[in-house]
Amino acid sequence: MKPPVYLDCHATTPLDPRVLDAMQPFFCEHFGNAASRTHVFGWKAADAVAAALSGGRRRGEAEIITVATEHRAVLDPCRRLERDGFRLTCLPVDRHGLVSPDAVRDAITARTLLVSVMAANNEAGTLAPLAAIGCVTRERGVLFHTDAAQAAGKIPLDVEALGVDLLSLSAHKMYGPKGVGALYVRRGVALAPLLDGGGHESGLRSGTLNVPGIVGFGKACELCRQEMAAGNERVRALRDQLHAAITGALDDVTLNGHPTERLAGNLNLGFSGAAAEAIMAVMTDVAVSSASACTTAAVEPSHVLRAMGVKPALAHCSIRFGLGRFTTVEEIDYAARRVVEVVRQVRAMSPMEQLALVAARNC
Ligand SMILES: *Cc1c(COP(=O)(O)O)cnc(C)c1O
Repeated sequence: MKPPVYLDCHATTPLDPRVLDAMQPFFCEHFGNAASRTHVFGWKAADAVAAALSGGRRRGEAEIITVATEHRAVLDPCRRLERDGFRLTCLPVDRHGLVSPDAVRDAITARTLLVSVMAANNEAGTLAPLAAIGCVTRERGVLFHTDAAQAAGKIPLDVEALGVDLLSLSAHKMYGPKGVGALYVRRGVALAPLLDGGGHESGLRSGTLNVPGIVGFGKACELCRQEMAAGNERVRALRDQLHAAITGALDDVTLNGHPTERLAGNLNLGFSGAAAEAIMAVMTDVAVSSASACTTAAVEPSHVLRAMGVKPALAHCSIRFGLGRFTTVEEIDYAARRVVEVVRQVRAMSPMEQLALVAARNC
C-alpha cells in the first residue's frame, strides 16, 4: 500500500479494469456509428449497444415535490422549473436524513405532477424509504422519480417493487466511465425530448451514441450485479473498522446520517473543534471530502447536513469517507491512523490558525 489513499468514492469511482477491457474494442476497431444501418460497422456498434442495454413539461399550475437533501442535479432543475412557473415543495428530513412517506402523502395535491426523492444520499449515505413512497405516489397517481446515482450497484433497485416511474443513473459512480448515464422511463410515461436532432434514444436525447461509453456502462452494471452482495459485506466491514478505529482513539466524534439505513461504503463524521478544510489541508495523503461547498467568498456548510439539523459549527467539521470496490484493509488501517493524528493536530490549533491553513490551501 502506498499513499495517497482514495476514500472519495461518492465523488467518483475508478474505472474497473474489466470495464476498460470491454470498452477498448469500440474506440479504434469497432468504431462504427450505431445509427449506420447499411453496413457491418454500424451493425457491430448497434449490437453492442443493444447488449449493453440488456445488462414534458406542463406549466402553470403543476407542482413538483422534492426533498431538501437532494443533489444539485435535482435541486437546480427543480428551481429552474419553479422560475418557469411550477410550484415547488421541498420536504424536510429528520436528523438522520430520512423523509417521511406520510409527509410526501400530505404534500401531494391535485396539481402534483412529480415526486422526486433520491435513493441514497451522496453525503450522509442515508437510504430513502423508496417502497413506502412508491406506494403513496401510486395511490395518488403521481409520477415518482428517484436519483439513484449513489444507490445503483450498491443496493437492489427493482422499479416494480419500489413503484418507481423514472430512475436516473450515472456510470462513473459505479466503476464505469464518466459522461454516461441512463434514465429508466416506465412504459406509458410521456417525456419531452431533452434535445432535438436526429431522434436518437427514442427521440428523447438526440445525438450519435457513445458506443464505448454505453458498452462500459453495461459491463459496469453486470459486474455490480454479480458482486453486489459480497462487495457490500466487505466494504461494510472496512467502513465499520474505520469508524471503530477513529472513535476508539478520538473523543467527540459524531456520526452524521442514519446509524443503519445507509450505504455500506459511506461514513460521515463530525470532528468537533477541527475544521474539515483544515483536516484536509494537512491530510494530503488520504483523499476524502468535506460536505462543504467552496464558493469564492466563503466555505458554505453542506445543505444536506444543515437540513438534517447538524449545527453549522459541526457541519464545518464534517468529513465524508467513501469506501469502494478497490479499498483495501491496509488502506483503512493507514487512513484511520492518519485521521487520528491529523484531527489531534488540528484540534490543538486555534480557530485562527485553522483558518490560515485553509486560506493557504485555496480550496
Ligand atoms: C454524482 C451524482 C449526480 C450527478 O451525476 P454526474 O453524472 O456526475 O453528473 C447526481 N446525483 C447524485 C446523488 C450523485 O451522487
